[in-house]
Amino acid sequence: MNNALDPMVRAWITLLDSAEVLRRTAPSRDPGACDRVGQAVDLLLRHEHSMTDAQRELARRTVWLRDNPEPLPDDRATWGRCNCPTCTLARLRKGVMSR
Ligand SMILES: [Zn+2]
Repeated sequence: MNNALDPMVRAWITLLDSAEVLRRTAPSRDPGACDRVGQAVDLLLRHEHSMTDAQRELARRTVWLRDNPEPLPDDRATWGRCNCPTCTLARLRKGVMSR
């Protein structure tokens, strides 16, 4: 991985990749494996919450460029967004309130 990258961004990518490996290799009927995937996702989202919008955008852009042969999608409006449960709930509440 690019060592010049912001350490916060690098850590996010490492957490994302390890959650993905756990998810892909988890035996489907093993509740322990399921817990470990959940813990890895929790860790990823907790880290994501401590990042800035610009760091989250850069992290998603870096992963996209690494994993996709296509050019970046035009709509990247949500790439800076934090997807942790607290921020997701806050966005939902805001949406409901502004109705
Ligand atoms: Zn958050």
